Amino acid sequence: MRYISTRGQCEPVTAAEALLTGLAPDGGLYLPASFPAGVASSFATEPNLTYQQLANRILTLFLSDYTRTELEECIRRAYGENFATPAVTPVTMVSEKLGFLELWHGPTCAFKDLALQLLPHLLSAAARKLRFDREIVLLVATSGDTGKAALEGFKDVPGTKVIVFYPEDGVSTVQKQQMITKEGTNTYVVGVTGNFDQAQAGVKAVFTNEDFRQEMAAAGKTFSSANSINWGRLVPQLVYYFKAWSDLCQHHTLAPGETFNVVVPTGNFGNILAAYYGKKLGLPLHKLICASNRNNVLTEFIQTGEYNRNRQFYQTLSPSMDILVSSNLERLLYDLAGADPALVRAYMEQLQQKGYYRLAAEERERLQNEFWAGFADEAETTAAIRAVYDRYHYLLDPHTAVGYKVYQDYLEASGDDRPTIIASTASPFKFNQGVAQAVLGPEAEEITDEFVLMEKLSAVTGVALPRALAGLQDKPIRHRRVIAPAAMAETVREILGL
Ligand SMILES: *Cc1c(COP(=O)(O)O)cnc(C)c1O
Repeated sequence: MRYISTRGQCEPVTAAEALLTGLAPDGGLYLPASFPAGVASSFATEPNLTYQQLANRILTLFLSDYTRTELEECIRRAYGENFATPAVTPVTMVSEKLGFLELWHGPTCAFKDLALQLLPHLLSAAARKLRFDREIVLLVATSGDTGKAALEGFKDVPGTKVIVFYPEDGVSTVQKQQMITKEGTNTYVVGVTGNFDQAQAGVKAVFTNEDFRQEMAAAGKTFSSANSINWGRLVPQLVYYFKAWSDLCQHHTLAPGETFNVVVPTGNFGNILAAYYGKKLGLPLHKLICASNRNNVLTEFIQTGEYNRNRQFYQTLSPSMDILVSSNLERLLYDLAGADPALVRAYMEQLQQKGYYRLAAEERERLQNEFWAGFADEAETTAAIRAVYDRYHYLLDPHTAVGYKVYQDYLEASGDDRPTIIASTASPFKFNQGVAQAVLGPEAEEITDEFVLMEKLSAVTGVALPRALAGLQDKPIRHRRVIAPAAMAETVREILGL
């Protein structure tokens, strides 16, 4: 399978090349030149496929230049003891037709692990295949979870360095502590005095700077991306939607031929895009329900066809979704625009220059056929945590709670009560403040130490703390650098000794 850029101005490449490069040289995102539509519809009817076997089927489709042994080896290393359950991504049904797909049993307690435990192995294999002898420098902009998951995945992987930029005041205490205490001789963590969009723009600017590329090449180094713009982040995310389907069939929640909905708490549009690609492969999905927080640029886009980032940016209880420019939307746009890269370029140009673009009527219709969208504000998010706890004694993190609230809105608006899976994207203990507010009430406000709060929350609810978060508060801080957004390029130079 060959990969082309959404902007159509560079040569097609192999999967290994697409993964190593991350962003296409014309500034676009890589996607398959032809999509293997419909091929995966048989997967769930084969009973008892393990997560690893499903991963193998799906990766084989998309990474056709990797050998069978290479893929098996990568998968074996990615999805083993580092996940707290052999199911990897179990579904917890809270009622007959509603289940949570728990994507947070990995080492950093958020769904990014599913891709980032695998990606380093895929990149190492790609580098070996292509006899690529330069050092791979991963530049990562993070709203919190990607950073830690990338550090965890790439820590001490030979031939790589990871530089993570996070918004200094835009991540939770646990997220920050997870990053700034990270060990590894090849890991660098830098706070930016700006928001996620600024960090992301800074990374993109370094990436697309031709002079910088040449300097890197001269020094025997090359940039790659572990952000969800990398195709190697998206493919692993298809796997758990198929796993969920398989589980629903096995539990007889779904009869053969029946469809289900998924609700995805969304930021950069990577996770929900994977569900969309799953549907193209033959996964029997009805609606893809896109859930946003107060930064509801995607809700507006899906409802009206206009994407407008000229708006107030809010910090919310669900910081991993505090994003106004959803990079992966460009891949969906390519499909909506009938695979015409000239149209994609025009939209991206408008977004760059004016901060907005508006879809043509038939493109909007295509969008609305597949997606439904809604959002939750802060009060609605805490109310959702409370409601689910009271009703099902099940603890949601704020991102997943946004998904639950939007699902309630969807039910009311559509009356469509077919089986539905909500992607549960983080452990509640990663975002204690919001969760404790909802469950413990005013008592939570008296506890200022987040780690004390975490223990308390676990004690009161009887929900066990993930082992990956135990002892985090006592780890020594290893990364103290904080810079202005404008200093990102310079900082990269300094770290790399250029
Ligand atoms: C990254 C993240 C999201 C958003 O996922 P996207 O793929 O960026 O849309 C939602 N919830 C959590 C907990 C996350 O870490």
